[in-house]
Amino acid sequence: MPDTAIDLQAVLDDIVTELRPRFGEGQVATYIPALARVDAGHFGIALRTRAGAEYRAGEADRAFSIQSISKVFSLALALRLHGSDLWAGIGREPSGNPFNSLVQLETEQGVPRNPFINAGAILVADRLVSGCDDPRETLRAFVSSLCGETIAFDEEVAASEAATGFRNVALANFMKSFGRLENPVDTVLDLYFHQCALAMSCTQLARAMACLCADGRNPLDGSQVLTDRQARRINALMLTCGTYDAAGEFAFRIGLPCKSGVGGGIVATVPDELSLCVWSPGLDETGNSALGMAALEAFVSRTGLSVF
Ligand code: GLU
Repeated sequence: MPDTAIDLQAVLDDIVTELRPRFGEGQVATYIPALARVDAGHFGIALRTRAGAEYRAGEADRAFSIQSISKVFSLALALRLHGSDLWAGIGREPSGNPFNSLVQLETEQGVPRNPFINAGAILVADRLVSGCDDPRETLRAFVSSLCGETIAFDEEVAASEAATGFRNVALANFMKSFGRLENPVDTVLDLYFHQCALAMSCTQLARAMACLCADGRNPLDGSQVLTDRQARRINALMLTCGTYDAAGEFAFRIGLPCKSGVGGGIVATVPDELSLCVWSPGLDETGNSALGMAALEAFVSRTGLSVF
């Protein structure tokens, strides 16, 4: 457990104070038009301990577009539905390529390197379509149950992605051409674009990640969301593949499983102890939230929490 002598609220407040002069740093994602309109100056941070204490600072309760953070939820749901059979069609290695790259898929016969690059998440979405009558609603309800509040899709963001997601269309068609997708490309992409368009706050995301720090159980209702082993393995994938091409740098500087999204959110876990989420929409050149990374670095240096 975190050292009870650590005043976690003071840690979060200090991080906001320290980073305030840098609010607005980085560039918001512009390749999705609805995200290009977001003000880079927002900043929020929230955490939840395994014992259920919650702390927040800044705009922790303002909803933002979770984007690739949704890949953690879709993977969790797909593992619930298909168990380890899921791994027949998808790898578990860092890609070392941009998250939306087509190159590796060509040489690796349409098998995505891991579930957190776009190709991998599209394949996971395909398996959700295979396993659910109403996959969008099943995923939305699943995420809502994890954070104990009703979560909704931002339909404007989903439409914006559908209108401009040419690379994702290419990735899906490419995998389809190798016979890797079980369902029609349009159906799979509809789910993928919607999962990325879930709107959630830092507080809700810190809560929704709690099962990864509690042996796979949802602490809100005690239900077993994942097996303990599945939860630990998702943490392992977040550490090795969760932050685009910067996973090595994140492990080096922060040392926690993390998953980022181009909306500027980053979730992180301290397995068995706590989950947290930071949001600041300005991204660095690796596509990760610039201040999000700075905040996580400040958090681990102040608390000494790390998996290493
Ligand atoms: N919806 C975004 C895309 O498919 C997600 C990217 C991200 O957050 O990494 O490009």
